[in-house]
Amino acid sequence: MSAVYNFCAGPAMLPAPVMAKARQEFIDWQGMGVSVMEISHRSKEFIQVAKMAEADLRELMDIPDNYHVLFMHGGGRGQFAAVVNNFMGNGGRALYLLSGQWSQAAAKEAVRITSPEQIDTIELIQFVDDLKTVQLPQLDGDAEQYRYLHYCPNETVDGIEIFEDIDCPWPVVADMSSTILSREIDVSRFGLIYAGAQKNIGPSGLAIVIVRDDLLKLPSMSQAAIMDYRLARDNDSMYNTPPTYAWYLAGEVFKWLKEVGGVKVIESINTRKAELLYQCIDDLPCYSNPVALTNRSRMNVTFQLADEVLNEVFLQEAKGCGLLALKGHRIVGGMRASIYNAMPVEGVEALVAFMRNFSARYACGEPKSA
Ligand SMILES: *Cc1c(COP(=O)(O)O)cnc(C)c1O
Repeated sequence: MSAVYNFCAGPAMLPAPVMAKARQEFIDWQGMGVSVMEISHRSKEFIQVAKMAEADLRELMDIPDNYHVLFMHGGGRGQFAAVVNNFMGNGGRALYLLSGQWSQAAAKEAVRITSPEQIDTIELIQFVDDLKTVQLPQLDGDAEQYRYLHYCPNETVDGIEIFEDIDCPWPVVADMSSTILSREIDVSRFGLIYAGAQKNIGPSGLAIVIVRDDLLKLPSMSQAAIMDYRLARDNDSMYNTPPTYAWYLAGEVFKWLKEVGGVKVIESINTRKAELLYQCIDDLPCYSNPVALTNRSRMNVTFQLADEVLNEVFLQEAKGCGLLALKGHRIVGGMRASIYNAMPVEGVEALVAFMRNFSARYACGEPKSA
């Protein structure tokens, strides 16, 4: 089989060396004669895996000691609910910044669990010269006003990324599902970071939560025990049986990322990949991207064909060249290339070569001025 590059937004491709190692270990792990997924989560062998994964993540993200790292169930949406349950179980208000599909979905879940009166929202997207631009508001006020502020630094569906930190008097909760580990961040600026695993970490179902100590000082407010951060903390994320195989694979991804050179190195590779792709989109009349330069996502590159009629042909031909899952989200339409950490530069180069060739053959769109 010739090279296949999978641009799926999630579940996304995992690093090739991790998949090869997992296959090799699949039915006989560490010479035990069984799979890592067939052993007790309380065995010393698995606890070693669990501890190592946490230690590697702490090292990769430079997570301060006053933060807990939790491995939880239920993916990104599970955390939409868990955040509300843990911090507003007894009332209070929260502020949600809206920048696209996922931040809206998080706010909707918060309203569902609480009430519309408890959830304030601010829409961040402005259209400047027809481009989608993020405008961060002045956020001052009473520290008691909100239990937290929630936002989504990378909108996976819309291809919009917010690179600036948010300044406000409330703990900042960030849904980093599709940007965690893709670039350096200062964890100490956040109250809580969560991420569904299936973009940059491992298989779906698992969610990683990084939460500052003092936010868990109050007594538990969560109705559901498996969503309770304090119970997760007190039981080393093993209050009930954790998703052990996903945890093991996440650990392998962290080891791989350390071998690559860590977050700083992958960030420069990610920047290069995104530049290659946006350059191609900006150069050729056939393609366009509606997001302002400063907010273009490095992980999810959306683009439209000048002639929509060619969408199906584009997808079919791309597939024929081993370039998979480029169809945009149904809400946004067009195309989307998700180029998470695991996507090698060669994959993006192959996509760009295909796009240039396609554009030359179908000659769609009006020539662009320089
Ligand atoms: C994928 C994604 C989610 C949802 O994750 P699930 O595991 O499907 O619940 C939430 N937020 C963002 C930013 C995502 O990219």
